[in-house]
Amino acid sequence: MEWEVTNGILVTPDQIIAPGAIRIQDDKIAQIGKKITGELHGPQIDLNGLMVFPGIINCHDHLLGTYLPRVGDRRPYLNWLMWDNDLKASPVYAERQQIESADLYQMGGYRHLIAGVTSVQDHIPHFVQDMFKDQVPIRVIDKYAVAHSATSFALKWGGSIEEEHSLAVEKDIPFITHCSEGYDKETVESVNYLNERGAIDNHTVLIHGIAFSDDDIALLKERKSHVVWCPVSNLYMFEDTAPIGKLLQAGVNVTLGTDSPMSGSVNIFEEMQVAKSYYLDTYGEVLPDKVILQMLTTNAAKAMFLPDRGKLAAGNLADFIVIHGDSSDPYSAFTSMDYGNIMLVVIGGKPRYGDELFIPLFEAMQIPVQKIKVAGHKKVVDGDILGLLDRVRKAVGFHKELAFLPVEPWD
Ligand SMILES: [Zn+2]
Repeated sequence: MEWEVTNGILVTPDQIIAPGAIRIQDDKIAQIGKKITGELHGPQIDLNGLMVFPGIINCHDHLLGTYLPRVGDRRPYLNWLMWDNDLKASPVYAERQQIESADLYQMGGYRHLIAGVTSVQDHIPHFVQDMFKDQVPIRVIDKYAVAHSATSFALKWGGSIEEEHSLAVEKDIPFITHCSEGYDKETVESVNYLNERGAIDNHTVLIHGIAFSDDDIALLKERKSHVVWCPVSNLYMFEDTAPIGKLLQAGVNVTLGTDSPMSGSVNIFEEMQVAKSYYLDTYGEVLPDKVILQMLTTNAAKAMFLPDRGKLAAGNLADFIVIHGDSSDPYSAFTSMDYGNIMLVVIGGKPRYGDELFIPLFEAMQIPVQKIKVAGHKKVVDGDILGLLDRVRKAVGFHKELAFLPVEPWD
């Protein structure tokens, strides 16, 4: 299938092409630029000056944990295990357990789709993810080696740290683990623990990093490791977050993650807003909007070893989002967007979600849609999001409202 968008403001994100066009061929971007050459065999959509960004890559979540409200009666916690004990003992966890795992996964996918996320890292062993990933309406990053965390009380996911890290090097995929998420002695020494096992290098992706020392940061920079910053989750559970100013100053590759809504943000919009406000409150300086965009696109693609994502470029996957907002500063429009600003989400060259304005595109591509209202805005989605919410409400036995899926029927 071939189609084209024209007359958009394209944020690649290194440069802005305005007005610009993208020709999509099957699941890839065939051409991008001020002018497209060659005859078009398919629909052409005039964007009328709307902005186009690469699809967002969310580098940390647990899709099975897609539920609300958050749990945290004994905050701030010393480490993840104390929080997890509170979670498992909570009434909301018992409520969540009534819902099918496949439906929790699907909710996780829709939570991100309506916020412009096209790829998500689901931190879980492969054998769990493999059962559900194909039913999720966005891309679930499925090439990774994994450890739960780097302490003696870590959950036993996958092989040993040495085995999983070796696998990552051999296959050129990321080795992903929670790290330095808390204050107890073992958690604080997590980077050393990984380093002693030869597991700190350019394949290593460390989630959280609240307890990173200056020496840890210097080592991560030297070894070209990656860090996933989850400010909302960290500030909620631990009332502190990674030393982001030092990480950025050192030049460590930093990405952003929402974590699950049971500890983290409602959506990636909140994550971006909190990242900005935390940075301003802590350092008295503005974290540039462009840096946040890079964290969620180019930096994320680098950390996840996905060279064909994170950038609007010929040959890359056609994963992109169209938003409306103040186009005099597209970077600021990106970090301040909300549900109403998301006009179109394209994954693998196929529109999956969009504003009512784009119904003709879905029709031209013969994609059946469900008409919904998202936070009051008329949208269409490829998939049965209303049926999903019905199943969830039947399972728990009442009309559960979920802030990350503010979805209702159109009529
Ligand atoms: Zn996590």
